Amino acid sequence: MNNIESLLQEPLFQHFHRICRIPHGSGNEAALAEELLCWAKEKGFQAEKDAAGNVLIRRPASPGCENAPSVMLQAHLDMVCVKRPGSLHDFQKDPIPWQIEGDWLTTGGETSLGADDGIGAALAMTMLETGWPCEAAAAGFPELEALFTVGEEEDFAGALGFDMARSRAKYLINLDHIEEHTVICGSCGGMRADFRLPLAEQRVPAGSTFWKLTVSGLAGGHSGEDIHRGRGNAIRLLARCLDAANASGCSFGICVLEGGSSRLSIPVSAGALICMDPENAEIFRLSAEAFEKTARRELGGSGTKLRICIDPAVGAIPTANASPAAEVQAAAGVNREAAEQIPPALTFAEAEPVTEAILLFPDGISEMNADLEGLVDSSDNLGEAYYRPGSGRLELVSEIRAARESQRDAIFRRMQRLGRRLGAEVSCSEPYPGWEYQPEGKLLDAVIRVHDGYCGFEPFLKTVHAGLEVGFFLEKCPGLEAVSIGPDLKDLHSVSERLSISSALHFQGYLKCLLEELGRETGV
Ligand SMILES: [Zn+2]
Repeated sequence: MNNIESLLQEPLFQHFHRICRIPHGSGNEAALAEELLCWAKEKGFQAEKDAAGNVLIRRPASPGCENAPSVMLQAHLDMVCVKRPGSLHDFQKDPIPWQIEGDWLTTGGETSLGADDGIGAALAMTMLETGWPCEAAAAGFPELEALFTVGEEEDFAGALGFDMARSRAKYLINLDHIEEHTVICGSCGGMRADFRLPLAEQRVPAGSTFWKLTVSGLAGGHSGEDIHRGRGNAIRLLARCLDAANASGCSFGICVLEGGSSRLSIPVSAGALICMDPENAEIFRLSAEAFEKTARRELGGSGTKLRICIDPAVGAIPTANASPAAEVQAAAGVNREAAEQIPPALTFAEAEPVTEAILLFPDGISEMNADLEGLVDSSDNLGEAYYRPGSGRLELVSEIRAARESQRDAIFRRMQRLGRRLGAEVSCSEPYPGWEYQPEGKLLDAVIRVHDGYCGFEPFLKTVHAGLEVGFFLEKCPGLEAVSIGPDLKDLHSVSERLSISSALHFQGYLKCLLEELGRETGV
């Protein structure tokens, strides 16, 4: 497959191409949903769109397979829209560009490809039309339901809103996994937690000097999948650095603090604007320097690019238009709007309650799984921290993830108890459900058996420390059996996103065999 024309001979890639021509970022799936409904109508399938915007297409069982349990194939319609800096690509109207590089289908580095999860949707379409309508050859499928959900990349709105009473499926095959030959059979649930600590603010005393303390260069990563990799948390390192300065006898105030950009990512940088008496500055500098060495040693390979810097911010007490606060906010990545809200007469909060709250706040792994080696059972990621002058409070935002509700609630209870001690307000979002690993099941047996026959070896079974749509369906329909599978896909959510062409075609063959095997199962 060395050119796009020959690739487009394959129905699978025709479907994926069709999907790539219609913009479908999260929240903008309506046109693609419409296209699927038209396609289903053309093909003679029963199809419907629900109130959430999901599309459900149904194909009756092949002759002789009427007694086999129904199977749902599920993929999400939306994609994460990322483009190269300076790219003119318009995600509201432009088709996603295609380029072939060896075995990889890419966009040539222009945009994300949206094979997450466009290839899953294309696979479901290909299965729906295999042997349809005349059932040529021996392809015998059970009744198929293809569910295309919206909003997966945002807030799981589609999976949350789908009414399982519309489905007859006993087996769910989620097509959103990115590694052929591995089968996802469990995921964690979670929720967002917010911690708001009131802070007393004072006017910065005359004669103070201002300093920018920044922590940067950490490796970061996914707040769940990478939480056990020891990559360091910039917010916690910032607090430790403040604590170390305090321990060496330095007294100072905090005018601004900002760390992290999303609770879903491990924070790579954090910064604070500090005010202090000029004679404290040298002690602070030495303490920060020493702490940088300590932190690097602790972090090993992931800390080689770590930088902890303390630099003078402009002048003494700032005026409204030469605000060092704006400067440090820019360094720490605060948006302009926030920077402009800085009052002309700068205030500060005492460093001690800020440092204490961050140091005591739960972060990182809470529990490891006792049975599956190396698997994190529960964790949280302190992903965002803010203190903005005049706000009167420190805000911490975290994502809690856990295999079981009890473990999730245990972490949240710790936060609540801490909040009670410190006088902070603690709240959480609506939780999303987990998917608990069930080692036994007819679907998993078939998945393993067919893989063994088709590939010559058994697939690798895995659970993930991240949220998946499957959790929502299982919560609504506890008897359902589920797996998540898919072809090889790399660097998703980035302009380097790429799909292995050979893997996609090979996987398609496997999926067909799997459905045929499930079609042979009798007795509902
Ligand atoms: Zn996905």
